[in-house]
Amino acid sequence: MKQHDVVVLGGGPAGSTVATLLASQGFDVVVLEKDHFPRFHIGESLLPATVSIFERLGVHEAIRSAFILKPGGKWLYGDEEVPGDFAKSDRKASFKQNPYSYLVERSTFDRILIDRSIEAGADVRFGSEVTDVIFEDKRVTGLRCRDEAGVESEVFGKVVIDASGLRAIIPSKLRIRRLAEPHRMGIYAQYAARPTRDDVKAGWFIGQMFYDGWTWLLRLPDDRFSVGTVLTVERFRNSGMTPTELLDRLVAENPLLNEGMTPDRHRISDVIVTGNMGNSSEALTGDGWVAVGDSAYFIDPCYSSGVHLAMKSAEVVADAIMSRPKGSKIDSSLFAQYEKDMRRHERTVQRMVDVFYIATRNTSVQKMITTCQGGFFSRRFVTFVGGDFKENTSYIARVRNYSRIVETLFGNNPSKAPENHPHYLQESSN
Ligand SMILES: Cc1cc2nc3c(=O)[nH]c(=O)nc-3n(C[C@H](O)[C@H](O)[C@H](O)COP(=O)(O)OP(=O)(O)OC[C@H]3O[C@@H](n4cnc5c(N)ncnc54)[C@H](O)[C@@H]3O)c2cc1C
Repeated sequence: MKQHDVVVLGGGPAGSTVATLLASQGFDVVVLEKDHFPRFHIGESLLPATVSIFERLGVHEAIRSAFILKPGGKWLYGDEEVPGDFAKSDRKASFKQNPYSYLVERSTFDRILIDRSIEAGADVRFGSEVTDVIFEDKRVTGLRCRDEAGVESEVFGKVVIDASGLRAIIPSKLRIRRLAEPHRMGIYAQYAARPTRDDVKAGWFIGQMFYDGWTWLLRLPDDRFSVGTVLTVERFRNSGMTPTELLDRLVAENPLLNEGMTPDRHRISDVIVTGNMGNSSEALTGDGWVAVGDSAYFIDPCYSSGVHLAMKSAEVVADAIMSRPKGSKIDSSLFAQYEKDMRRHERTVQRMVDVFYIATRNTSVQKMITTCQGGFFSRRFVTFVGGDFKENTSYIARVRNYSRIVETLFGNNPSKAPENHPHYLQESSN
């Protein structure tokens, strides 16, 4: 039985990042990926803090030449606009020298990343679907997989890195995967049209809040757009619409989607639904395994944090493995600091997500955010939304506590969203 140094489950941004970093240092790395690339994936809006990882992987030039530069993200709160301009971060921001990121087409982006892993020496096996996890006593020692001809095989490693995205294969197998409350879902598609707003033309990510949910609009190359919405499963059910009907209605009625694209817009992809938005693994590492990216946890994407957390977690795990001499045993104690740091990031991002949703429902919290523009708060906010999730953590905790107190004192009634909230897709009246 051949034992590789590292077996990586999944070749998305997390899997390819850890594979490139380890393979380029001479580690024997196998990546098992069920799909063939390029393939569609959601998650196109990136953060400036990730650019240093692109540099380290040696893919920045390829990304720069393929995609649209993103100067920031802008939120539309009722009639107010809240721009998160990456150039207006605080002094300590890690991306002070590169205050921009990219809007990427994930099929091409993920292909660039995995090609780099192959170039670095990783053995990437496309069309290999992992069907089971192999345990010896309670230690994960390998994976069982099936190729497209239906041939089953087993692959063993000193450590198995689970980068399987929302499937979270090992945490799910161990029954330690938990869904966040309330249950939210994403509905999205690509459209062909030209941009009408200057900020969209300039590469900004634009989101618009509605009561307990939001829509997004972002440009892709060749006059195409990524368009979508996130809302509670309950609200979707109560709407009585299919996902396609709901997205069609939003494109017709939601000011951002309706006015941000030229009227000749038309959908050029299927409407896709992601059901289990917001979930987390109770442990990020165990005997013989460690989870990175969405397999560790997935937080609501309102701050476009997913790809950054995926690549950052992969980088930290690769550095932990490389901190030991090659050939030494890899046990879970090596990832203790990783788990601690990633939990801190998770708490901080989740707190800001809480503030975000409270602001969709509560006019006072909305006002607090819109009136703080340009000052101290917004510089800290920009540093955070640029991907520096370890900065300003106690400050963010205070903002979240304040928002919760305001919500508790003034209350929100989901069935009677205040008049001054845009509240598309209110529950039907029956
Ligand atoms: C609606 C929505 C909007 C989003 N918007 C953004 C955004 O704007 N910006 C952002 O940064 N993030 C966004 N995200 C999040 C982003 O998509 C993820 O965080 C990111 O893709 C995580 O990368 P990953 O490598 O962990 O997982 P993935 O990119 O999902 O990669 C996992 C890989 O594992 C493979 N795999 C799975 N199961 C198996 C198996 N059994 N055998 C073999 N291979 C397997 C898959 O084929 C896949 O290639 C969004 C997510 C959603 C749902």
